[in-house]
Amino acid sequence: MFQKTIQTQNQQIHLSLLEEKKIELWIKREDLIHEFVSGNKFRKLKYNISEANRQNKKTLLTFGGAFSNHIVATAVAGKLSGFNTIGIVRGNELATKFDRVLKENKTINEAYKNGMKFDFVSREDYSNKETKEFIAYLKKKHGDFYLIPEGGTNKLAIQGCKEILTSEDEKFDYICVAVGTGGTVSGIINSVKRTTTVLGFSALKGGFLKKEIEKNVINSINWELISDDYFGGYAKINTSLVTFMNEFKEQTGVLLDPIYTGKMMFRLLDMIEKNQIKQGAKILAIHTGGIQGIDGINTKLKKKNLDLIKV
Ligand SMILES: *Cc1c(COP(=O)(O)O)cnc(C)c1O
Repeated sequence: MFQKTIQTQNQQIHLSLLEEKKIELWIKREDLIHEFVSGNKFRKLKYNISEANRQNKKTLLTFGGAFSNHIVATAVAGKLSGFNTIGIVRGNELATKFDRVLKENKTINEAYKNGMKFDFVSREDYSNKETKEFIAYLKKKHGDFYLIPEGGTNKLAIQGCKEILTSEDEKFDYICVAVGTGGTVSGIINSVKRTTTVLGFSALKGGFLKKEIEKNVINSINWELISDDYFGGYAKINTSLVTFMNEFKEQTGVLLDPIYTGKMMFRLLDMIEKNQIKQGAKILAIHTGGIQGIDGINTKLKKKNLDLIKV
């Protein structure tokens, strides 16, 4: 799976709003690459896995939250390519109720089934995870490993994300993509031609990611980062988002995820509605995957007695 160059299909989206505004919208179905190594997580792991092989490493170690798409993608990708995997997961309270976590958290459960070993660390340790001291401590505790950063973003990940678009996609005026750490959007920006505009829809509040992305970008094109001030930040979900996602699924057949692609599509259609995208534009939105995370969000919505995302 990690040796070949995978290309995914574009699917046209038909909605009365798009017809009315004379805008073409297509979705690149990166979510269909793999159930658990989906979308951009596959792209970001590909060259890291070849590098880990080249360095003769036996173990991949990475970081994430308890519902992280990246954690489960690394576990499954590691299993598929013959690596041991270790997940350094935020929240040391999870260690004491691991049996319950395995039962209730599908992300951790799937990663565990694929052989991942967990080290649940305090929020303080987690925030120090990039320091030399903490990494030395991890090496002492777990032995030698190939380190993949939180969210999987590094130079090799960005290189992998340059393979999302193909020459056929040059016809699009806009490329839209959800942003977490900014690795994926950086690869996209570095792989498009000059007349393309890239819109990155952040899953986080505030504009601090812009500087991070600027560090990676070598292509001088138009790009913009739209921060998640509307829903209030990372993994903040409300009923209007859930209703939108359920309607979108009903009208187009495409299931979105609530953390990234659902918010991207909500904001993009809102921009179209408000005439912020020019008539006649051709838009390609990347479905970066993340479907595995729906269950975790639905569990939280259920506890609050709110409408659930229909899968
Ligand atoms: C991780 C993730 C992103 C964010 O990717 P970055 O490269 O971290 O910006 C977007 N969409 C989905 C579905 C993801 O899982």
